[in-house]
Amino acid sequence: MNNAEGNYNLLLKGGHVIDPQNNIDETMDVAIKSNKIAQVSKDIPSSKAQKTVDVAGFYVTPGLIDIHVHVYGGYQGWLFPDIHSFRNGVTTVVDAGGAGWKSFEEFKETIIEKSKTRVFALLNIVGAGMLGAIEQDVSEMDPVAAAEMIKKYPNYILGAKTAHFSGPGWEAIDGAVKAAELSDTIVMVDTRVIPTRTYKDILLSHLRPGDIHTHIYSQNATLLNEQGVVNDYVWEARELGRIFDVGHGAGSFRWRIAVPAMKQGFVPDTISTDLHKASALMPNATMLATMSKFLNMDMSLNEVILRSTVNPARVIRRPQLGTLTVGADADIAVIELLKGDFGFVDVGRTRMQGKYRLQCALTVRNGEVVWDVNGISCPDWETAG
Ligand SMILES: [Zn+2]
Repeated sequence: MNNAEGNYNLLLKGGHVIDPQNNIDETMDVAIKSNKIAQVSKDIPSSKAQKTVDVAGFYVTPGLIDIHVHVYGGYQGWLFPDIHSFRNGVTTVVDAGGAGWKSFEEFKETIIEKSKTRVFALLNIVGAGMLGAIEQDVSEMDPVAAAEMIKKYPNYILGAKTAHFSGPGWEAIDGAVKAAELSDTIVMVDTRVIPTRTYKDILLSHLRPGDIHTHIYSQNATLLNEQGVVNDYVWEARELGRIFDVGHGAGSFRWRIAVPAMKQGFVPDTISTDLHKASALMPNATMLATMSKFLNMDMSLNEVILRSTVNPARVIRRPQLGTLTVGADADIAVIELLKGDFGFVDVGRTRMQGKYRLQCALTVRNGEVVWDVNGISCPDWETAG
């Protein structure tokens, strides 16, 4: 056998592969060799692999990409990534502003380099990072220092982030955009809309193409007008390339905003969780629960996967991720689509009844099985020796 074919380390056999990047949405086998996707096709023989896992009945997708989590910093409590990522099929996360330029290197040493999950950062425009009161201190917002740190670690830092600023002005948003301009990167904005800083101005006059507004279904934004209709300038902003991200969290996903917007065809570009200690339990802002909410708002499974793999990869300018293309890093989610009677809670503690729930059966990160809820990749103990 040559290197191109055979001698696979792992073969996922008989699953329904959804890889929107390559327009695959059918039963296929996926073979992994040396931490890379080696072959995706029908009927790859088990004899070619050291280990074969039967994944018939499951969906096989690229490892999910969650572009808004908190795995460092103080605000409401961060969570170590591997604990919640893999059990949700997530293989790449983006920490949204936990660290600023003063704290990024500690973040890198204590979390990023200690995680199996691929961890990227959006650097807080506040030098000290997401630490509460200091986030209001405009003298902590130094776009030049932030840009220097972003440029120093291009493999880890994707751009800038601003959040929680409650002053009347534009220091936080414009500072983050400036840092992104200086480093040729992107910005993610979490902001409370106020009369001196309207959603329209943020979207049309201050953000640039490719910049992200997260928390689109929060009552802190004005996605909908008083009649419950998606504002014209929101559609215009989408035309201009602004990115609309879910960022569910503990305060930013309300059925009364999401459902009308979805019915009007305004769908999120990217599905993300804003996962931290206050959002992980109630309202269960985990990746698969958040994705399930969109399934139950009549988004197709293929579209849900698109917005959790390919789209986030493109938005963070890492198009090599979020796909099962041969040669890509072997990051894979094996997902079960449960059908029955389920309920889903939003941040206002209101419930939506749903027919579908996604559940992670198995996760592969960099070619290694890192989550396997029913041990389907393991031999039976009585015959294992
Ligand atoms: Zn957040």
